[in-house]
Amino acid sequence: MRITDVTTIKLRYQMDVPMADAIHYMPDRPTLLVQVHTDAGIVGLGEAAAYGGYLESTEAIILGELRTTILGADPLSVEKLWAMMATRAHQRGRRGMLMMAISGIDIALWDIIGQATKTPLYRLLGGYRDTLTAYASAGFYAGDKGIAELAEEVGGYSSRGFRHVKIKVGRNPEIMLNPLHEMPASDYATVALDEDIERVRAAREALSPGVGLAIDANNAWTPSVALKFMREVERFDIAWLEEPVATDDIEGSALVAQRLDTPVAGYETETGLPGFRELIARRAVDIVQPDVIWTGGITESRKVAALAQAYGLPIIPHVFSSGVSSIANMHFIASLPNAGLLEFDQNPNPLRTELFEEPIEIASNGTVRLPDRPGLGVTLNQETIDRYRVEDHKVAVTAAD
Ligand SMILES: [Mg+2]
Repeated sequence: MRITDVTTIKLRYQMDVPMADAIHYMPDRPTLLVQVHTDAGIVGLGEAAAYGGYLESTEAIILGELRTTILGADPLSVEKLWAMMATRAHQRGRRGMLMMAISGIDIALWDIIGQATKTPLYRLLGGYRDTLTAYASAGFYAGDKGIAELAEEVGGYSSRGFRHVKIKVGRNPEIMLNPLHEMPASDYATVALDEDIERVRAAREALSPGVGLAIDANNAWTPSVALKFMREVERFDIAWLEEPVATDDIEGSALVAQRLDTPVAGYETETGLPGFRELIARRAVDIVQPDVIWTGGITESRKVAALAQAYGLPIIPHVFSSGVSSIANMHFIASLPNAGLLEFDQNPNPLRTELFEEPIEIASNGTVRLPDRPGLGVTLNQETIDRYRVEDHKVAVTAAD
């Protein structure tokens, strides 16, 4: 079997009400899908993360560079193709957008291998489990959402069967060095640190007993702010504190992790095995959070998971984009002995809920079962693709802003 082409699909869903985390303002949900075509008629599907950027930027790397590298190659040699894509571009980027672009192709190659061997991907990768526990990823900032609305939202998740809920913290303009100051719409839906503590308290009180509550600061704080905040909220039994400090502040994150009983989780914003090696080996995290559409695909994320296992650490991947990111991360998680929890975005996004002919469904006890079809096991819904497809995402986002 040979690779005959690599193509992309650019999609965009405009939010009715923009949402925000500590530092990112999100008026829309852009998605870059990747398809790898073969002479056997098998088409593999993947997604390349495009967080905060224009889809065209990552698309240019995929079509202008990586496509040429893998055309004519055997898609089953995924490890070799990964090395070729990364090595040939190493002078221009070892992390960031290059890894996102490689991720999209790598996932599509694994989908091809699954289809060619008629095996669901998670089984091909080891098949540790066939059911995952989903956690509700929610509690974002929004213009019209106060503490009462947040509590109502969070309470709804536990009554729907979720055993874990995560909310955002850190959108605090008074905090020095908060990257929020450099971001678009930096005055949208901000809260003081004291109000953030109240948000956590309200969320805890809204949850049924025994339901875990995690908080996510999206790199907003310095170590001292993180420690001060946690002194106030640790009594609310926080399941984990996610990305408390800047991704590159490894000593700072290690200090926070050492001082707290609460596990520190991260860093979705890191990419590639060498970056995760530093976070893991220097004990900057207690929970490791790669994302197969961002970290370097399934090939690289498996190595991150193995390294975490060597250090006795669990993997709770970051999952926050289209249905392709959900299903690809699901297969990855189900294959691992040191994972099992699935981030399940609760914000409205038809690119997650209506992208496939076979929707990803949550059972009433908050669990999700892997499909038993070959590869990723999904078929794109053409109507959804047609409705949300954009040819020029750069123009669309500029107009919306
Ligand atoms: Mg996060």
